[in-house]
Amino acid sequence: LPNAIYGPERMNSRGHNLMIDAERSALMSKISEFDNTLWRAYPLLAGKPEASGQTMEVKSPYDQSLAVGQVDFATAEQCRKALEIADSSFTEWYQTPVSQRAAVLERMADLLEDNEGELIALCTREAGKTLQDGIDEVREAVDFCRFYAREARHHFTSSIKLPGPTGESNELYYEGRGVFLCISPWNFPLAIFLGQIAAALVAGNTVLAKPAETTSLIAARAVELFYQAGMPAKVLQLLPGEGRVVGGALVPDPRISGIAFTGSTETARVINRQLADREGPIATFIAETGGQNAMVVDSTALPEQVVTDVIHSAFASAGQRCSALRVLCVQDDIGDRVVELIKGAMEELRVGNPEDLSTDVGPVIDAKARDGLLAYVAKQTQAGKLIHQMTLPEACASGTFVPPTVLSIGSIAELGREQFGPVLHVLRYKAKELDTVLDAINGTGYGLTLGVHTRNEATAAYIEKRVRVGNCYINRNQIGAVVGVQPFGGRGLSGTGPKAGGPNYVLRFATERTRTINT
Ligand code: GLU
Repeated sequence: LPNAIYGPERMNSRGHNLMIDAERSALMSKISEFDNTLWRAYPLLAGKPEASGQTMEVKSPYDQSLAVGQVDFATAEQCRKALEIADSSFTEWYQTPVSQRAAVLERMADLLEDNEGELIALCTREAGKTLQDGIDEVREAVDFCRFYAREARHHFTSSIKLPGPTGESNELYYEGRGVFLCISPWNFPLAIFLGQIAAALVAGNTVLAKPAETTSLIAARAVELFYQAGMPAKVLQLLPGEGRVVGGALVPDPRISGIAFTGSTETARVINRQLADREGPIATFIAETGGQNAMVVDSTALPEQVVTDVIHSAFASAGQRCSALRVLCVQDDIGDRVVELIKGAMEELRVGNPEDLSTDVGPVIDAKARDGLLAYVAKQTQAGKLIHQMTLPEACASGTFVPPTVLSIGSIAELGREQFGPVLHVLRYKAKELDTVLDAINGTGYGLTLGVHTRNEATAAYIEKRVRVGNCYINRNQIGAVVGVQPFGGRGLSGTGPKAGGPNYVLRFATERTRTINT
């Protein structure tokens, strides 16, 4: 089979070079068109906005007094109605030629680019993302749409001819499974939201999309753009709302054929349990969950490079990536030097308004997340573990900010639950303790990203093989996997696979059929 990913003709979107004045000001003026916009989102049933009476105010994480818009959360009754519609539109959709389904995704990618100003504005205002993260978010969403369209054309256009040893003709082909429920997180409110639904739709499923409670406005804009791109309104429906209500109404229903979920490991377990207990067919469950990601640095590593990669991996996106670095394991011999450089580099970081181009670290998503992180840091500080913490500028007082913080840790087993924010742990190890450290990383049960810094190739290869993770990054930072270039996803407590942006993703949303003809 031709390799669908690495063909020289496939290119990701170009993005923006913000160092070029004209390019930067053109983008900034597109974004500023939405300075005074208040967005409004509703459940979209067969494309029709339906008020529910449960209206939530959306405030900016940057400034809690800044209104971003309003969203109506779906009721259980609306969820059931949407499921009815999705179920009855499946037969027509899975028989729609893949060329048509893929063309909708490709038009969607173009529309995302045309509307990038609004989408970036929503990323910064609703999700508190920095401008650079907003730009990257739109790019990744565009890339997912084009990549999955291309993958689907490759796999779904024709069947695979199989041998016919008894004179019969045998073929295998792919088709949609049924209704997919896609549950997505707030940390990639556009890219992951669209990545899941684009793959499910292009594989021939109808979709009920449930975005994270905190980022429903951008999800609603994305679905409206999908309709504009030609997606039939009965095939894709939006159900903003609480997990308890939307999940509670839909997961136990046997008409749900598959669930794609990105979020916490605990919620994945709850969904998995509900699926196991329900009547009816066994559903496909695709889960992408958390991590306790380590970087292992031996004494041959270049401290300056390590520090740049540590700062980016731990504090970019305010540490709110499941790929983010949580525990730096540094060999004792260079530990003091690395920690000193980290402290210095942290003082260069700018924490503040995500809409300022110079901001490196924005707020965390909401007050609950902030309070949990601050309580954890306070407890560790009391226990004498604080190595370094940035001081927040005064302007941060009105938002949900957490200062980038470095804590010491005596062993990896001491890491409790994942701290989803700008909090880094540092573990010092002696050369002879390397295996103990690697075993402890495996012992967390997670397996998402691993960073390795060493100038010894044999050491890099040894560590890579020994630690069971989905994405291993050697002598660079460990976040920001690129669609079709670094397929992304973990194992163990970090998820089920397949990898997003990889060659097997779309296929997991499909079922296989074999046709045998007695000729
Ligand atoms: N794909 C993202 C990265 O490589 C992380 C996705 C997530 O946080 O869920 O950084």
